[in-house]
Amino acid sequence: MATLEIRDLHVGVEEADGSSKEILRGVDLTIRSGETHAIMGPNGSGKSTLAYSIAGHPKYTVTGGSVTLDGADVLEMSVDERARAGLFLAMQYPVEVPGVTVSNFLRTAKTAVDGEAPKLRTWVKEVRTAMEGLRMDASFAERNVNEGFSGGEKKRHEILQLELLKPKFAILDETDSGLDVDALKVVSEGVNRVRQATDVGVLLITHYTRILRYITPDFVHVFVDGRVAEQGGPELADVLEESGYDRFLTAARS
Ligand code: ADP
Ligand code: MG
Ligand code: MG
Repeated sequence: MATLEIRDLHVGVEEADGSSKEILRGVDLTIRSGETHAIMGPNGSGKSTLAYSIAGHPKYTVTGGSVTLDGADVLEMSVDERARAGLFLAMQYPVEVPGVTVSNFLRTAKTAVDGEAPKLRTWVKEVRTAMEGLRMDASFAERNVNEGFSGGEKKRHEILQLELLKPKFAILDETDSGLDVDALKVVSEGVNRVRQATDVGVLLITHYTRILRYITPDFVHVFVDGRVAEQGGPELADVLEESGYDRFLTAARS
């Protein structure tokens, strides 16, 4: 049982003229093992900023609050340390890794996270099974990471990593964006397999309610103007589906 705790998190981003703009304005969120939390909010509300801040992206400056994993200060950790502590943040990886195949990349990442190389025979089997589950052709493993990947292939590669690295907490930012219904189902099934097979805690960030038809969250947080405006159970997603974010926008600005 692990706990990822975000307390009164304030984050700013540096603008082109060197000044800092506050984007997160006091985020409170607690995720425990085995729970799936959906963060839903309009474009520009700061959802990705939250993900990047937990990932340790250098562009985002934490100006207040805390992020802890079982009491350990995540914000003090290097990006590698965050991964070793059990945080899975797909966006921590470079967009393209020239000359590195998916197969090598996955083994290197697994070795880095576990602190030892996986046993070759079981590993090869695990990779093959996970790829089949995500309907990926075996030849995909020999392609270079993210080189010419389609949107759908990037998302599948993200979930493939999730399935193989078995993190304590996974933060998935707009995993549904740009996927057609078939790809969305395959990707959602992958996430659900990991939820079933492990005790992973999931932070599922999304703009649309569509993915929540396939991945049922335990909690839904409405994210507006850099903070959580309302939280509830999965039924809150249905409210958003019907009436959108308008009523939360008004509430946040009044
Ligand atoms: P969301 O993911 O909810 O669409 P973002 O976190 O991407 O929202 O963006 C929130 C706000 O912060 C937006 O106004 C965006 O323009 C600004 N912002 C985010 N990242 C940067 C950045 N690297 N540089 C400048 N502004 C940024
Ligand atoms: Mg956006
Ligand atoms: Mg975003």
